[in-house]
Amino acid sequence: MTANTTPTTAFTELMAYQRDTEALAQVAGRLGWDQEAVMPRGAAEQRGEELAAIEGVLHARRTDPRLADWLERATADGPVAEAQLRQIRRDHVRATKIPARLATEIARVTSIAQGTWAEARRNDDVAHFLPTLERVVALRREEAAALAAGGDLYDALLDDYEPGATQASIGAIFDAMRPRLVALREAILGADRHPAPLEGRFPPETQMRLARELASAFGYDWNRGRLDLAVHPFSNGSGNDVRITTRTVEEEPFNCFYSTIHETGHAAYEQGIDQAYLLTPLGQGCSMGVHESQSRIYENQLGRSRPFTAWLYDRMTAHFGPLSTKDAEAFYAAVNRVQPGYIRTEADEVHYNLHIMLRFDLERQLFAGKLEAAELEEAWNTRFQQDFGVAVDKPSHGVLQDVHWSLGLFGYFPTYSLGNVYAGCLMQALRAAVPDLDASLARGDTAPATRWLRETLQRHGRLRSPRETIAAACGFEPSEGPLLDYLEAKFGEIYAL
Ligand code: ZN
Repeated sequence: MTANTTPTTAFTELMAYQRDTEALAQVAGRLGWDQEAVMPRGAAEQRGEELAAIEGVLHARRTDPRLADWLERATADGPVAEAQLRQIRRDHVRATKIPARLATEIARVTSIAQGTWAEARRNDDVAHFLPTLERVVALRREEAAALAAGGDLYDALLDDYEPGATQASIGAIFDAMRPRLVALREAILGADRHPAPLEGRFPPETQMRLARELASAFGYDWNRGRLDLAVHPFSNGSGNDVRITTRTVEEEPFNCFYSTIHETGHAAYEQGIDQAYLLTPLGQGCSMGVHESQSRIYENQLGRSRPFTAWLYDRMTAHFGPLSTKDAEAFYAAVNRVQPGYIRTEADEVHYNLHIMLRFDLERQLFAGKLEAAELEEAWNTRFQQDFGVAVDKPSHGVLQDVHWSLGLFGYFPTYSLGNVYAGCLMQALRAAVPDLDASLARGDTAPATRWLRETLQRHGRLRSPRETIAAACGFEPSEGPLLDYLEAKFGEIYAL
């Protein structure tokens, strides 16, 4: 590029360069999908090298000195171009703080760590995972220190997943949520009425047929996606290749159905982004918290609502024959049964955020240097006993249950609860915007809801900051109030509190 390049040319050149970076990032993401969905176990070490190599290429592109030059010259023609430049600058500034050696080492180690964690979890063997976990924590501490440049390490990590969020802002929301959640939990556990669970055996192939129906009911575009099995359900990709995964447990069909709806929510967000943003920095969900608001509102506020479960009850009866729950009302209560359990991903809406608060506090201590990887198991078990009133019986029910720490995803967990908070706000706004929502949900028709979400939120991708995105969709500033009101009303009724 020459000194007399015009601002418009600089913008065009920058966006063309960025498009290749975005395409390569999609390729790296798809390797991640492959790793969890279909890769043979023996390929773990090789995949680590492959991912490290592509991370090296991405890091070099994001730190390329030409970027600074383009960013200085390019001028934005309107808010969309401004947002594009803001995101590219953000990625560039972040990447230049991280040495290339560290970026590729993190990619290599966390790729291999996943296999080690999976093996440790299978065998309930914390000691097997500990050296790997210590290495991952050390690498992420080093990275956080580079990013924070003297500031708070955990805040630096949070900013990756939820731009603008800090542990103080998230801590304040959690502090406001905790007393009402604990009071609701106590009231439910002490209630006279407890719904019966759904019992029986549900063949996995039939579960998968209904799972596909559910994804379709929530508007999943099969022409630009696919559904596979994975140990830990996830979604992957942006634009025109957005994949989802689910799992089947013969005695627990809700596990499969609600994982599928959850991942469909993530996928619908990505599939719903304006095609003009394809392979640009705006062509993806704007933060993990906003992403989770989509998966959660699909899964819980819509999917676990009374009218939608009435439709699901009919569909389950059609697929599996008569159920153990005698009618749609008993089925609704079974879907929403509250029970203290070990596993976050299987937690009901009341307990879920307590699981997150536990992880949030442990992570903060870990990155404040007040806790070491070797002490995590004991700290986890102590806290779990306090919060849930049950002793952890084995590591796969405790510190080893989630994949996140093996992947180095520290600072990610709190975005799940933020997603719940955002979903609560969005549901309040959605109810006001679509007054006859329940009538369509009772027919298994989610279109009025998903259309509203697409229009007000999904199509904008990363155009705005996370809080602005939610505020623009809702018409009010997000807070924990609507979620807590919703939970108290819903479960107060189910449990006759
Ligand atoms: Zn999710």
